[in-house]
Amino acid sequence: MNKIEHIGIAVKDIEAANSVYKSLLGYEHYKTETVEGEGVTTSFFTCGESKIELLEATREDSPIAKFIEKRGEGIHHIAFAVDDINAEKERLKAEGFVVLNEEPKRGADNKWVVFLHPKSSHGVLVELCQEIN
Ligand code: ZN
Repeated sequence: MNKIEHIGIAVKDIEAANSVYKSLLGYEHYKTETVEGEGVTTSFFTCGESKIELLEATREDSPIAKFIEKRGEGIHHIAFAVDDINAEKERLKAEGFVVLNEEPKRGADNKWVVFLHPKSSHGVLVELCQEIN
């Protein structure tokens, strides 16, 4: 793992959250992107070497909508940057982590992403992400 690439935060209203995080960080988000396959609209803020990713559901059956229904708004996942997502996935499987998607998916912000089940990591959904070249 290279660094914490971003922290994903589930929000009900991305416009309202953008405004709050702008106040918190002291600057604007740098992009907004919808990933239809995941049913989310995302907004990214930089913070040093890492980022904050705000996530709003685009439909009722979105994983983000379900998360908010169960647990309310808040931290949804931690994403780690990796150089070789398939090698890391295999390493973590061998360590006993449960991989949610065997095939890396195209995520927001030009990344391949693989998720690990929160039960493997004390309640935290883990995302591995690799820059798409
Ligand atoms: Zn993420």
